[in-house]
Order: sequence, then structure tokens, then C-alpha cells
Amino acid sequence: MSNPDAERTFIAVKPDGVQRGLISNILSRFEQRGFKLVGIKLVTPTENLLKQHYAEHVEKSFFPKMLSYMMSGPILATVWEGKDVVKQGRAILGATNPLNSAPGTIRGDLAIDMGRNVVHGSDSVESAEREINLWFKKEELIDWKLNQLAWIYE
Ligand code: UDP
Repeated sequence: MSNPDAERTFIAVKPDGVQRGLISNILSRFEQRGFKLVGIKLVTPTENLLKQHYAEHVEKSFFPKMLSYMMSGPILATVWEGKDVVKQGRAILGATNPLNSAPGTIRGDLAIDMGRNVVHGSDSVESAEREINLWFKKEELIDWKLNQLAWIYE
């Protein structure tokens, strides 16, 4: 069996997803796929946290609008573990612009506008590590054994 604990990703349900009651729909896709939830909490992010999280976008023209969207309500922050979970997570989310997201993906099923695209997911193993450290304290991540492992991994 491959080592499914090898990779982690940061997945967040943005304020629109929380307000629209989409939390369980979004979480169930990761859960049912076979990924293991190791961290979860509701967060009202500060401007400082979001500026660090989106450091690469701070100078972009869309940033002020995106900042107020991301600060408009609580965000559900989660960490998932599993084989290739970063890449798989991005595939489960769909493209940044829902117009380009295939049906079957979260954004392809549940979103229309890029500025209300419901979810965030880390785009690389390195950004996942950075984002997890930003949003979670070490003790908030739970180490536990998923008993179905042998039914999910070869
Ligand atoms: N965004 C936006 N307008 C743009 C580009 C991005 O509102 O022109 C928002 C959108 O919500 C997106 C987020 O900024 O999810 C971060 O953009 P990124 O390119 O990192 O996409 P993601 O990694 O979220 O797919």
C-alpha cells in the first residue's frame, strides 16, 4: 500500500459557500473520495491573515474586492490528507473561473462568478504547507488512523 499520509492540502469553504449552506456538500466530496480530514474550524479571517494567504495577489486590481468578499463572513478552514491530495483537491474544486469548470466539480456545480467561487484549494505541495501553517496551529491538526485505508489504497 502506498503511503497516504504523505501529502496534505488546505481546503477552505469561502463566505459565500458558508452562507449558502454548502459546507456539507463540499466536505462530503472529499470524505467520499477517501481523503482523511485532519483539521477543521470556522474562522473569521483578519485582513493581515488574508494578505499573507493571498500574498501573490496583493498588488492585483481585483484584490480589494476579493478582500472584502473574503472578510464578509466566516470561512470553514479544513486540512485533508491522502495520496496526491493537492492535485486531486484542485480537480475536485474545478477551474478558478466557474465558466471553465466542468460539471461534477464544486465550482462547476455550485458557482457562476469568479468572485463568488465558493472554495479555495492549495495549488502546490509547497503552498499547502505554507497555508496550513498560516491557518492552523500544530495542535489543531489531529493525527488519527483511517480504518478503511486498505479499502481505498491498493
Ligand atoms: N479572483 C477574482 N478575480 C480575478 C482573479 C481571481 O475575484 O480576476 C479571486 C477568485 O475568488 C480566486 C481568488 O481570487 O479564487 C484567488 O485567485 P487564484 O488565481 O489564486 O485562483 P484559485 O487558486 O483560487 O483557483
